[in-house]
Amino acid sequence: MTAPRLEIDLQKIQHNAAPLVERLGDRQISVTGVTKAMLGAPELAYVLLQAGVSGLADSRIENIETMRQAAVCAPITLIRSPMLSQSERVVLNADVSFNTELDVIRSLSVAAQQQNRTHGVVLMVELGDLREGIMPDDVECIVRKVLRYPNITLQGIGANLACRSGVSPDNNNMEQLSAIANSIEATFDITLEIVSGGNSANLNWALADHHLDRVDNLRLGESILLGCEPLHRQPIAGLYTDAITLIAEVIESKIKPTKPWGQIAQTAFGDAPQSSTSSSANNLRRSQTILAIGHQDTDPAGLRLPTGMTFLGASSDHLIVENALATVRPGSEISMKPNYSALLRAMTSPFVQKVWQPVETVVHKYVSRPTTSPVRIDFQAHPGL
Ligand SMILES: *Cc1c(COP(=O)(O)O)cnc(C)c1O
Repeated sequence: MTAPRLEIDLQKIQHNAAPLVERLGDRQISVTGVTKAMLGAPELAYVLLQAGVSGLADSRIENIETMRQAAVCAPITLIRSPMLSQSERVVLNADVSFNTELDVIRSLSVAAQQQNRTHGVVLMVELGDLREGIMPDDVECIVRKVLRYPNITLQGIGANLACRSGVSPDNNNMEQLSAIANSIEATFDITLEIVSGGNSANLNWALADHHLDRVDNLRLGESILLGCEPLHRQPIAGLYTDAITLIAEVIESKIKPTKPWGQIAQTAFGDAPQSSTSSSANNLRRSQTILAIGHQDTDPAGLRLPTGMTFLGASSDHLIVENALATVRPGSEISMKPNYSALLRAMTSPFVQKVWQPVETVVHKYVSRPTTSPVRIDFQAHPGL
């Protein structure tokens, strides 16, 4: 098989999505399945819908177009504020978009009138993470204007936390979101269908035993794909954490000194070189292995390596590991577990093949919850060796 490659077990992803949909559904929270980490792959869209998500979402119009071209007809939301230059494409392919700027909503309104469609708008509110969002004091004024735009319907409000500054969702900020929703409804005598509380980082809050008030939707990507919550990167009980593995091939394996020699300047990526005192005091030799994968394919620091291997460094096309496993030779394949950042880049790299392991033909709803399976730490010798 070609390497590097991502092996994506769709059955495990479906098994991950279903209990989240069910547990949140018990609390009257709908789940929007976020596809951006997989570039809007229709394979993913299909299993998310099978698992019962109420709709799909992506941050890029290109990914939404990919799903539409594959005849995915579920409701799709653009969860990044649209670029002005893409208004027509947004109205044509997305049912709803998240917005913070009146100029953009006006342009969506024009495009919607031209296309004889209605476009839904969710206004994002800033709750402290300082990424996108209207400052709470300005929301009322913006709602008043949005309600006047032809062919635009105000579907609701939303917030995003824990992305830029790591601000955690808590009772304070979520109560503020609910209060804003109540106040908009009272002031304008309208009903907001969606109060979208956040992303995977909201799971702990949404599943905890307290009043959720108006929050009735979460947008989930990472938790479904990687089986962990992003605040502390803890595995979620009952979910697979190994649905996706990244496999790379060994191209060199040698015993080498631990310390470089010669005049030391910057590395290829401008990092400070290893100081000669920080590595081992005496210049030992160690088994050093190179995998044919690098910054152009993934986030090398975001890979969990098999037991016995430790990360030493990476450049554009090389990942260098210390290797206690004497049998690793050129042609050996190494399985690694990507974190979100490593996954995102590997999905985006044209050099990484994507291998979709399909859902078994009998699509069964999960019966007993799978136990968190161990990380795949083995490496497989190349069949030719
Ligand atoms: C990426 C994104 C999500 C999904 O985040 P996960 O942590 O992958 O669940 C939700 N909402 C917005 C606005 C996003 O940009």
